Amino acid sequence: MEKISDVTCLFCGVTCDDLEVFVEGDTIKEVKNACILGKATFMNHKADVAIPRIKGKETSIEACIEASAEILSQSHFPLIYGLASTECNAQRKAIELADLIGASIDTTSSVCHSPSLQAIQTVGDSTCTLGEIKNRADLLVFWGCNPAEAHPRHFTRYSVTPKGYFVPRGKKDRQVILVDVRKTPSAKAADQFIQIRPGSDYEVLTAMRALLKGEELEVEEVGGVPISTLKSLLEKLKTCKFGSIHWGMGLTMSRGKHMNVMALLLLARDLNRFTKVVASPMRGHGNVVGIATVLTWQTGYPFAVNLSRGFPQYNPGEFSSVDLLARREADAALIIAADAFANFPRAAAEHLSRIPTIAIDAKESMTTKIATVVIPTAQAGISAPGLAYRMDHIPIPVKKVVDSPYPSDQEVLKRIIEKVRSKLQNRV
Ligand code: SF4
Repeated sequence: MEKISDVTCLFCGVTCDDLEVFVEGDTIKEVKNACILGKATFMNHKADVAIPRIKGKETSIEACIEASAEILSQSHFPLIYGLASTECNAQRKAIELADLIGASIDTTSSVCHSPSLQAIQTVGDSTCTLGEIKNRADLLVFWGCNPAEAHPRHFTRYSVTPKGYFVPRGKKDRQVILVDVRKTPSAKAADQFIQIRPGSDYEVLTAMRALLKGEELEVEEVGGVPISTLKSLLEKLKTCKFGSIHWGMGLTMSRGKHMNVMALLLLARDLNRFTKVVASPMRGHGNVVGIATVLTWQTGYPFAVNLSRGFPQYNPGEFSSVDLLARREADAALIIAADAFANFPRAAAEHLSRIPTIAIDAKESMTTKIATVVIPTAQAGISAPGLAYRMDHIPIPVKKVVDSPYPSDQEVLKRIIEKVRSKLQNRV
């Protein structure tokens, strides 16, 4: 049995790079250091592997690539979506393809943290790496997120329990506060749980900013939280040495969306008049920050980019995938390493099932079930190497631990690009 060290897990945005994977031939026998989610990802890599097919009929990868190139080269307003669970070289190829066919290109951020990206674009972000949080943070606030279930090793690798340079006793040197609309399993790791009324995050955060500026509020509570509790939370934030506020989809996908995140970012900014406070989003997929980084590098924008006029246009609401599909504007779709059909609202999912859809994925999903063409690929981080960006924008190499009978996402996209290019040239 061969031991492979420093393996990276692409399941969630913590993007752990310290896994030990034991392999025999093309089978993974054991995984050490991973959480339950990461371990299941590696141990089940042979389950539900996608089968190459066109309109439900099993065929060769080559035939699927040819059919995909035909669909994309014929399309007038194609959409490319997904990309958060693949590696950066494949992401770069997807953008090249979008440019070639004049597509809209959008990522899974569109239905999770895009309001965070819009808020950061609007008011900026006081931020740092997870390494700094591990070594410096003595006060951690988790707002509208549930790391115990969604990012299991965040607490143990970077935030709550690890011993750091300025917090040598780990948890004993830290205070942890959870703010949410319900008590989740993450509350067990917290010293204090503050329950707020659903949909009142903007109100609570804005009230905190007012209190911080010395305003007196003539009410007893805001968002279900007594003013005395908000004052005591502010006092903790003002007097800590290094405060770190983390937010999740409780802010981005509830009423207020980017306004909630803007209020949190402005609160963190205001607190820097008293002490060091940073704020960072709890990003979901293992390389969702990678696609935002590569797309911004290539086009200037992190999601919802349209290339149909030969230059990048950015407009969430116009070029975001759910809107393009719900308005029935996209006439073909290429979904890469994502399950759009399972996650989109009904009107968007229905249109996806009506138009020619190509699914490039290592695994079967609801999207592969409705796709016209299914192209299975080697799973990034297991059977395909590359690069990923952790939730704090740190680039991390991604290893291959076992072989796959299928090509990588990057290879498939490269072959589609070659075929599309030749079809377009022949038509001129
Ligand atoms: S915390 Fe996330 S990245 Fe780390 S092992 Fe678990 S699922 Fe993988």
